[in-house]
Amino acid sequence: MIGAGLGGLAAAMRLGAKGWDVTVLEHLDTVGGRGSAIHKDGHRFDLGPTIVTAPQVYRELWAACGRDFDADVDLRALDPFYEIRWPDGSHFTASGSTEAMIEEVRRLSPGDVKGYLRFLKDAHRRYVVGYEGMVAEPMHRFWDTAKVIPEFALLRADRSILGLARARVKDERLRMALSFHPLFIGGDPRHVTSMYALVSHLEKDYGVHYAIGGVAAMAGAMKRVIENQGNRVRFRAEADKIVIENGRAVGVRLANGETIRADLVVSNADSGHTYNRLLRNHRRHRWTTPRLKRTKWSMGLFVWYFGTKGTRDRWKDVGHHTIVSGPRYEALLDDIFTKGRLAEDMSLYVHRPSVTDPTAAPEGDDTFYVLSPVPHLGHEDPVDWSVMADAYQEKVRKTLEERLLPGFSEHLSVEEVFTPETFRDRYLSPYGCGFSIEPRILQSAWFRPHNVSEEVDGLYLVGAGTHPGAGLPGVVSSALVLSKLVPDAAPREEMKMAAE
Ligand SMILES: Cc1cc2nc3c(=O)[nH]c(=O)nc-3n(C[C@H](O)[C@H](O)[C@H](O)COP(=O)(O)OP(=O)(O)OC[C@H]3O[C@@H](n4cnc5c(N)ncnc54)[C@H](O)[C@@H]3O)c2cc1C
Repeated sequence: MIGAGLGGLAAAMRLGAKGWDVTVLEHLDTVGGRGSAIHKDGHRFDLGPTIVTAPQVYRELWAACGRDFDADVDLRALDPFYEIRWPDGSHFTASGSTEAMIEEVRRLSPGDVKGYLRFLKDAHRRYVVGYEGMVAEPMHRFWDTAKVIPEFALLRADRSILGLARARVKDERLRMALSFHPLFIGGDPRHVTSMYALVSHLEKDYGVHYAIGGVAAMAGAMKRVIENQGNRVRFRAEADKIVIENGRAVGVRLANGETIRADLVVSNADSGHTYNRLLRNHRRHRWTTPRLKRTKWSMGLFVWYFGTKGTRDRWKDVGHHTIVSGPRYEALLDDIFTKGRLAEDMSLYVHRPSVTDPTAAPEGDDTFYVLSPVPHLGHEDPVDWSVMADAYQEKVRKTLEERLLPGFSEHLSVEEVFTPETFRDRYLSPYGCGFSIEPRILQSAWFRPHNVSEEVDGLYLVGAGTHPGAGLPGVVSSALVLSKLVPDAAPREEMKMAAE
């Protein structure tokens, strides 16, 4: 197994449960990938995912390994889910209560309640077809994707999520509130299929949760399951290439020159990295370098992690998750995704785990991260972050001071900044993308790099760059797809005896 992201860890657990002897090779010194954490002066910074949806996905994963998820992870339901604030001072609080949501819609735009109720129905229908029907199913045979096309056509999957929101509500703020979710998995709402309305249903029915200790605590619990299965995670073990003999993957060569042989190789590295780097010496038919260059990639992220001293009693109206929407929505998306330009304005997501989780910050202090979507590094004339980072951070600081956390700059204690260049170097992410290949309709299901490699026998893919795609429920589900494709291993004792 190459990579100990949530996708790789889930896959190792599934393979362990099937009796496979698994070695996870991770180039970092910790598990979790984007879901890992760093610690500074008593602050824990959850580096990436903060919103845990679809808890049933984890419960089912643990159960498949004969374990109880709730005994290993302390998952807390959040209520409300998050708040969106607009520059005109208006705001919207999202929660699991349909009545409360209708009231929020009515408060902003009374004429849009009917349209909102239609959107809820849209979301439910898309959840049944798109989530229940596809997410955990293998999609590497064209037929599996083709047979859902009639339902997709009926549901107008060709229409974007923003197009659907536009058709249902008139208020620009509500259009944003109903369509921004794909940004959390790297998709441009102007192009991502309206099937992603299913996320609104997922949130409503299964809630929004936070794991005490952050997603890193979930990743740590996954590592313990893997070790209890008798398997292992090796850190600072960067795969340099997948070893191929007679057209079949037979192992992995590490950057230090060591070769590890295996009956099958699973890559949780980004699919772009897997094909362009790890299979660089192998002739590829589908995922060639020019094809990967033409692929639409998710956006990059500028993330500023910081601690503030003695602020726990401040900003009482700022909860766990806040979206500070900028003055422009579609035009900003155009700058980020199409023009590849670093805009003057910004929309921010602010994470404040210390209001839910006392382990996130020293007593009385706060831990935050603020995230701004920015262009990835693959655009013509990419942003040089070694030059731009300080100036951009200053703009983020000003926006936060003015819009959300007045006076916070005076309380700053520790900080760390990640730019797309950090993502490129830390996670070996092509173009420093936040979420791998963008989830457009023609880059999803069969059209995405397959879970069972099209290029080499014996190679499998899990994680954000394969089916079903990015986001924790997606990458953990990719491991379930994998387990449907890989047979049970021979019982280990028999294998050992056979080897002797
Ligand atoms: C800032 C941010 C916020 C997010 N928020 C949310 C959220 O709230 N909710 C949600 O559901 N999702 C969220 N996501 C998305 C989610 O975190 C990711 O889609 C998911 O964690 C990706 O998991 P993965 O297993 O595919 O890959 P990764 O987490 O990228 O893991 C891949 C691992 O492989 C390792 N690796 C790569 N190449 C090699 C190699 N050659 N040799 C050895 N190791 C290698 C990397 O070091 C890494 O550890 C967020 C993502 C980010 C970045």
